[in-house]
Amino acid sequence: MVSVRSSLAQLPPYVPGRKLPGAVVLASNESPYGLLPGVAGTLSELAAGVSRYPDMSATSLVQVLAAHHGVEPERIAVGAGSSEVCGQLLHSVVGPGDEVVFGWRSFEAYPILTAVAGGTAVRVPLRDHALDLDAMATAITGRTRLVFVCNPNNPTSTAVGERALSDFADRVPDDVLIVVDEAYREYADPALVPDALALLGDRPNVAVLRTFSKAYGLAGLRVGYCVAPPELTAHVRRTQVPFSVSALAQEAAVVALGERAEAARRAALTVAERARVTLRLRALGFEVPHSQANFVWLPLGDDSADFAVHCLDGKVVVRPFLGEGVRVTIGLPEENDALLALAAAWRG
Ligand code: PMP
Repeated sequence: MVSVRSSLAQLPPYVPGRKLPGAVVLASNESPYGLLPGVAGTLSELAAGVSRYPDMSATSLVQVLAAHHGVEPERIAVGAGSSEVCGQLLHSVVGPGDEVVFGWRSFEAYPILTAVAGGTAVRVPLRDHALDLDAMATAITGRTRLVFVCNPNNPTSTAVGERALSDFADRVPDDVLIVVDEAYREYADPALVPDALALLGDRPNVAVLRTFSKAYGLAGLRVGYCVAPPELTAHVRRTQVPFSVSALAQEAAVVALGERAEAARRAALTVAERARVTLRLRALGFEVPHSQANFVWLPLGDDSADFAVHCLDGKVVVRPFLGEGVRVTIGLPEENDALLALAAAWRG
């Protein structure tokens, strides 16, 4: 019998959004607008090539990303979704017993991937549904190797501002990697939420994570990346599962980036819908923290399961975090209307 690591038995499960045929799905923060126009054609053209392995270095994608961000290609590392890159960053710097600090609640993959890397998760409670960067800086010890800053934060939707982020970075020792996870960047107000690459990109201990899964509509193809110092990205590439990013994903990402104006237009529609949904939910008496992402957070505490079941009965799938709150993705206007009608009925 192979002896497996007993610590992994304690891993919290990653809970994906439920699949319910015919339902409105507002559970996984995907784009409701489907593929960008050029992507569909590209995918069918490429389908014939899937009997071959992809370019393991993702050369074209890395080049367009480097040009897009105005950095050297050596500073980009691509993975099968930014979740894979999260894991690669952890494997690059965290060993057994090392500590990884993050706000909690935040992206549920952080504790899972930390444990898989052999690290110890240090969860720092949020304050008013937002990352408490002061408490996170205080939680850093001599054993800390990495700190995640999810900005905007999933699932609570709030974001930290420029001053708070740069003050925090000043307090983090140089040998601790700061990973700023900007999965929802495209939905944030640039006047309120800093672009971490512009603000902190020159620091030797900062990696910025981005994904094609949200505003670029490619959640199912799995492609994300980090921008980090070249010494770090070299390690990150070493930890990648060979060929994890398919040729379809690479090419679709290149085409999607070329259509970023359309992606931005769609993100703006989501932001406008977010404002409408927030206003209505607040009018119904829900507490709704100020969202900078493509979802809203309803801190319903013990009522979370009841609200989620009520929505499910009405064929709208939302994402409950039991005892804490419910995350509702912003969908198409008619999908949001279905959610709002259910919310009004629940309030009674
Ligand atoms: N970071 C955050 C904060 C997320 O919410 C998600 C997806 N839920 C990811 C990273 C990972 O996205 P992907 O692996 O699809 O790029």
